[in-house]
Amino acid sequence: MSGIRRIFDLAREMTDAVDFSLGQPDFEVPAPVRKALAAAVEAGHNKYTVTQGMPELREKLRERLARDCGFGDGGVLVTAGSAGALFQALAVLVEEGDEVIVPDPYFVLYCHLVNFFGAKPVLLDTYPDFRVRPEKLDALITTRTKAILFNNPVNPTGVAYTKEEVAAIAAVAKKRGVLVIADEIYSAFSYDFPHESVLRHDGGALLVGGLSKTYAVTGWRLGFAAGPRDIIDRMAMLQQFSFVCANAPGQVAAMTALDVDVSAYIEGYRRKRDLVYGGLKDRFEVVKPQGAFYVFPKCPWGTDEEFVKKAIESRVLVVPGRAASKHPTHFRLSFAVGDEQLKRGIEVLNRIARR
Ligand code: PMP
Repeated sequence: MSGIRRIFDLAREMTDAVDFSLGQPDFEVPAPVRKALAAAVEAGHNKYTVTQGMPELREKLRERLARDCGFGDGGVLVTAGSAGALFQALAVLVEEGDEVIVPDPYFVLYCHLVNFFGAKPVLLDTYPDFRVRPEKLDALITTRTKAILFNNPVNPTGVAYTKEEVAAIAAVAKKRGVLVIADEIYSAFSYDFPHESVLRHDGGALLVGGLSKTYAVTGWRLGFAAGPRDIIDRMAMLQQFSFVCANAPGQVAAMTALDVDVSAYIEGYRRKRDLVYGGLKDRFEVVKPQGAFYVFPKCPWGTDEEFVKKAIESRVLVVPGRAASKHPTHFRLSFAVGDEQLKRGIEVLNRIARR
């Protein structure tokens, strides 16, 4: 990663750059959610909560998951972001010598976490269309496979899976007895069809989600895990002796957040998706994103590092594909920025594509 570090060193002092590197929404936190947090602090919700999370919030999450994904009577744990849930899940699930299947490209954290806990990430190559094929998944499963980390919609490619695809992937996992860890943090950001949860097709999956992206509260550190009780119980025990609990006033505000309609924000992001895809498709080989807020074009020349270096020198910050993949051929652009920035950045990328 040293090359990538060098590229970001280049960007550090730029104040006038178009920043497409950040994985967080640019919209303001919805007013009722902001007010609910301030009110929770004023009302004294500033102390530890029970480790599993406030019972009222867990109940609300359970109802919501029952309605949206057919969630049954599994356990629910409120965590310090979905990253906290992923950390705890892998900590309790894997040991030395285990394998975890990770579709490539992947969310940066996945391979590091799997490695950190002594297991081996087994990459499932999804190039060039970035979709997991069930037969490819089937072929990678061994007696050491503990789980598949299935992200939908996907960071960094913007792929969202259809109901049929999710059903087929879940069917392989069930047939082979492999746990699906379903990272559905971007479930609200599905532009072309309704988001389809793995839980609808595999009642034994472990779902990971959170508030960060949907309500633009990445700094609040609020996530959750829902799934088999024995796994959730072990995660809760680990949380008790590590993070203790998720942030308390945030948990109170989350109850308000879950009732806030974010469809106008999502509509705005669909428009940005159209803008960025329309703006890049003539000069870049690019898969049209259907969800999340990323696009993952192929570099028109050079390696990812060479192209990204040129982009950064031209004051456009994007992330080399190698940060999220074993292929040094693509780059990630987060379109969670203002429209003016988006247009300016697209123009620059088109200009440097023609080298
Ligand atoms: N999963 C994916 C796929 C993500 O992109 C992110 C944030 N970039 C996370 C999990 C972690 O989000 P948080 O911990 O803020 O919930």
